[in-house]
Amino acid sequence: MNGMGEGGRKPVKRRGNENGVPHISPAGKELLTELAREHGTPIFVIDHEKIRNNYREFREHLPFVQVYYAVKANSDPGIVRTLYEIGCSFDVASMPEFMIVYENIRDMPDKERQDWIWDKIIYANTIKPIDTLQALDKYKPLVTFDNIEELKKIRTYAPHSGLVLRLRVPNTGSMVELSSKFGADPGEAVDLIVAAFDLGLVVEGLSFHVGSQCTNFENYVQALQLAASIIDETETRTCRQIRILDIGGGFPVKYHPEVRSFQVLAKKLTSEIRRLFPPDMQILAEPGRFLVANSCVVVAKVVGKAFRDGKPCYYINDGVYHTYSGQVFDHVNYPVLSFKEGEKHISAVFGPTCDAFDTITQSAELPELEIGDLVYSENIGAYSHASSTYFNGFPPAKVVHINR
Ligand SMILES: *Cc1c(COP(=O)(O)O)cnc(C)c1O
Repeated sequence: MNGMGEGGRKPVKRRGNENGVPHISPAGKELLTELAREHGTPIFVIDHEKIRNNYREFREHLPFVQVYYAVKANSDPGIVRTLYEIGCSFDVASMPEFMIVYENIRDMPDKERQDWIWDKIIYANTIKPIDTLQALDKYKPLVTFDNIEELKKIRTYAPHSGLVLRLRVPNTGSMVELSSKFGADPGEAVDLIVAAFDLGLVVEGLSFHVGSQCTNFENYVQALQLAASIIDETETRTCRQIRILDIGGGFPVKYHPEVRSFQVLAKKLTSEIRRLFPPDMQILAEPGRFLVANSCVVVAKVVGKAFRDGKPCYYINDGVYHTYSGQVFDHVNYPVLSFKEGEKHISAVFGPTCDAFDTITQSAELPELEIGDLVYSENIGAYSHASSTYFNGFPPAKVVHINR
């Protein structure tokens, strides 16, 4: 150990990685072309060691936080298994997501499984269908809510749940905004908690989500302050303690050099949480993107080529209805890169479907490519394959696992 990154030393640069943005090494590229040869294209390659490293990094910088992986970021069962094996907990937001986690712990004896689910799963969709509540009740899970109608449903169909009130908090500057759809106004929060207690339910915690890919760390600070004052006021009004604080997701990934590092955020969170909350407060987090974004690469093939509007155009066999869906839903741009070297030209890259909307980019910088050449995009593990469709008959990319 040489105290790397501590005491004012310059952070050590990772290979091929000038500003902290993760890039694939030459050996990694060779492996990807081999996998494409073996499996065909398009392939969505998941590197499980990277996921384990992301989990370890999160735990290293926020050791007092119980980590619930937000399954919606990438619900591949292999990812769930990898995270389960290293002790991760899970945030699910639908019954099918609950079942993906459940299937991976099916070897446990019944009683043990009940306890595991009770401790390690949070159902973090504030809106739950009645049949979902009925199915969940026997596990006494943590479930979130943010309105009175949901409380009444929970009272009737899942009264054994542990309730977590989701607060509406500032989402300014986050890439994906969530506050228009979810969260109780802070001014109504204590009334809702009181209403829950009056219905005979137990409110165990508060939660919030600052918006996904949050680069404005003030959002977290403001959310923590709101939560602290609501917990205080609840105690004053009801004499009951709230001892779970769920700080949600939003932990940013370094897609660009400008994104400030997770370490900076973790430091800020640690000092604010120490300042604002009693030491016995249980802190939960629900990272999605942070655990998986840099763990996956898509490899696709050039299946057509044309010259339009003064530039080369490449038609590849993956696009925005498929692995590149994050460009629509997640507002992330994934540069299309070539395995080939050569003089670069501004080029358009289109997906395979018969829709002009299926345009990955009008301005890739690519060397001249031939039909059959492979291209790839990295850091595409979150909100990508998970929202892939079968549009126009093209199935989602085949998933390939690297598990070293
Ligand atoms: C999507 C979501 C997450 C994960 O968010 P990331 O920004 O990917 O970390 C966590 N919690 C809830 C409730 C979500 O909806």
